Amino acid sequence: MIQRRKTRRIEVGDIAIGGDSLISVQSMTNTDTRDVESTVTQIHRLESAGCEIVRIAVPDTEAADKVAAIKKRTTIPIIADIHFDYRLALKSLDGGVDCLRINPGNIGSREKVAKVVAAAKDRGVPIRIGVNAGSLEKGLEEKMGSTPAAMVESAKRHIGILEDLQFFDIKISLKASEVLETLEAYRMLAKEVDYPFHIGISEAGTLASGTIKSSVGLGILLSEGLGDTLRVSLSADPVEEVRVGFGILKSLGLRERGINLTSCPTCSRQEINVISLAREVEEALATVKVPLHVAVMGCVVNGPGEAKKADIAVCGGKGIGVLYRNGEILRKVKREDLISELLKEIGLMVGEKG
Ligand code: SF4
Repeated sequence: MIQRRKTRRIEVGDIAIGGDSLISVQSMTNTDTRDVESTVTQIHRLESAGCEIVRIAVPDTEAADKVAAIKKRTTIPIIADIHFDYRLALKSLDGGVDCLRINPGNIGSREKVAKVVAAAKDRGVPIRIGVNAGSLEKGLEEKMGSTPAAMVESAKRHIGILEDLQFFDIKISLKASEVLETLEAYRMLAKEVDYPFHIGISEAGTLASGTIKSSVGLGILLSEGLGDTLRVSLSADPVEEVRVGFGILKSLGLRERGINLTSCPTCSRQEINVISLAREVEEALATVKVPLHVAVMGCVVNGPGEAKKADIAVCGGKGIGVLYRNGEILRKVKREDLISELLKEIGLMVGEKG
């Protein structure tokens, strides 16, 4: 059982972060925020995949002007990602965003920071401080190098600015593209503050390599109880980020959602085509929300054992597949009918679990 770090609870729209709340899964749109239509379409796709909070980049006034229109047509909480320009933060708040990602130390004068903080406070909107090893303050990097200690120092400076203004609705991320650096930074800061952590491995890579890096990094942090919300960064369709994020949480028993697939690696004993069947099952059930354990096993060596643990299972037999439900044999099915029969049973089960 994972003991989660005790953190302060904040709210991003209707999603709680920290405290006893579930670890939420975020992603970020990669559309042009000025293009409302594509951004809204992508947010809807992300939401269908299970994304709970979405971040949009707000690089200029034109993008900030579109925030209200995007908010009007979407329901999940939206975070505006802003660098430097406090006016974009104010405009985004006017547009109804649910959280700001902005580093107060980068905004400029205290007066500008105070304006953003007052506006955020008025609306009950939290601020995420996002420290990235690749973009540390110049002086700090010269003094300490691009190290975990420098990342923590940077975070503490930004936190100090907000706390001086009596603002405590904060979450923090400390991202590096190297797993070990990221781990070290979060571990260090965890000893000093109780603000919730947004965790992620920055610029993790493509779907395959980024999934590996993120699973290792986030898996270790989560197993140590660190992390209240997460984003997997991939050079891929952001929907994949959501799938991988949930996959990591499900693997550690921290969330339950949709299909948990067990499938065998296949060998010369296989009697059904496990690789294509498992892929078809995964694709067909990608949008199912209720937790469902499905096993696809190639033969009777390990098949029945795994079937016992699964809600629904199929095991290969001589020229047929055997369907199981809750460990009990349901019926034998011809190879050509296997996928449709399996999906029919799963459909029934999803309906019952509702
Ligand atoms: S379940 Fe059967 S087919 Fe699959 S890997 Fe094990 S022995 Fe091979």
